[in-house]
Amino acid sequence: MIKINDNFTLLSASYLFSEVARRVSAFKEANPDGERVISMGIGDVTRPICHAAISGMLEGVRHLSEESSFHGYGPEQGYAFLRERIAEVDYRERGIEMSIDEIFVSDGAKSDTGNIGDILSPACRVAVTDPVYPVYIDTNVMAGRAGERGADGCWSRIEYLPCTAANGYIPALPVNEPDVIYLCFPNNPTGTSLTREQLKVWVDYALAHNALILFDSAYEAYITRQDVPHSIYEIEGARRCAIEFRSFSKTAGFTGVRCGYTVVPHELKGVDSAGREVSMNHLWNRRQCTKFNGASYVAQRAAEALYTPEGRSQVREVVDYYMRNASLLREGLQSAGIECVGGVDSPYIWLSTPGGMSSWDFFSLLLERCRVVGTPGVGFGPAGEGCFRLTAFGSHADTMEAVQRLSRLSN
Ligand SMILES: *Cc1c(COP(=O)(O)O)cnc(C)c1O
Repeated sequence: MIKINDNFTLLSASYLFSEVARRVSAFKEANPDGERVISMGIGDVTRPICHAAISGMLEGVRHLSEESSFHGYGPEQGYAFLRERIAEVDYRERGIEMSIDEIFVSDGAKSDTGNIGDILSPACRVAVTDPVYPVYIDTNVMAGRAGERGADGCWSRIEYLPCTAANGYIPALPVNEPDVIYLCFPNNPTGTSLTREQLKVWVDYALAHNALILFDSAYEAYITRQDVPHSIYEIEGARRCAIEFRSFSKTAGFTGVRCGYTVVPHELKGVDSAGREVSMNHLWNRRQCTKFNGASYVAQRAAEALYTPEGRSQVREVVDYYMRNASLLREGLQSAGIECVGGVDSPYIWLSTPGGMSSWDFFSLLLERCRVVGTPGVGFGPAGEGCFRLTAFGSHADTMEAVQRLSRLSN
């Protein structure tokens, strides 16, 4: 028989969204008539891609159709035309130094946050915030870094850093000396963010304890508050302790196009088992050149166009569209007497269920009384129990209707 990677057998079947779908279809079957069900559960965008990006994409397609401008395999790290724009607009315009060989264009942040573990020792100890984007945990299970799963669903070698109403969704520093810390701010699922001062605490910790911060910045475009950093490299010293992941998925509706990038600064050094210092940038470059053949030329042309003045203002319009939904949702919940956070620097609203109801009981209540679907917080980790996620990625019309129905919760 073929021997498999045992670690994969440790993973539980991805239960959350399939269970949501199962319960919704059971409800629809039992209630075939009446009000339509509005979904505010999925973390996917709904607005079409902006004109600027479509023009860039079409130009890319035209290049491929002519012998004189055809492109085959591209650089594994991404084309310079895109990396130059990223370095200039996303970093230098914000006063952050960045050279293009620190930027690795990819097919998205899910792959990169998942694959980054390839260049880390299996012995590394990992810390994650709780609730959390499940990719960080599952990829460490696959790599054998998670240990055993306890009765509470937590992995023995992973340190969980709760983010709850009690700590204002600001995780406390770890106590088990992790080597690797995943941070995602603005956060999915809680929608909360860290100020510059709050993020500095983490950079200082990482520098003092030789830890690596893996900073997922997928929702950077949604930041509205002045004191929230757009990049971890705004914090002094972060170039020596952090890798940053970005994506065009939530920014520009590229969830189906696929394009993102990862920054690995030259100053970032690791150590091998013989005690020799190694550049993490060189390791990631080596990893990408061997296992990845570059993001599609057409996707990179589309991404490049997002950095033109038209592209930037069109991206802004779409982000603003979702953020108006987020405000509507926040106000609707507050007038129904339900506490919530998020929706200011992110498209997610994280609510505390009324009367300490469980996440799944609230899921049923919301479905039955309002015919609105969201995501039970406990599905993102044990600290998510008693919480619930709604997304602002729907249409205005659906969001407004959902908000009206929310008033039924207070009667
Ligand atoms: C959506 C999302 C991403 C982006 O994934 P892509 O692969 O770039 O589409 C990354 N991290 C988090 C936390 C997300 O919610």
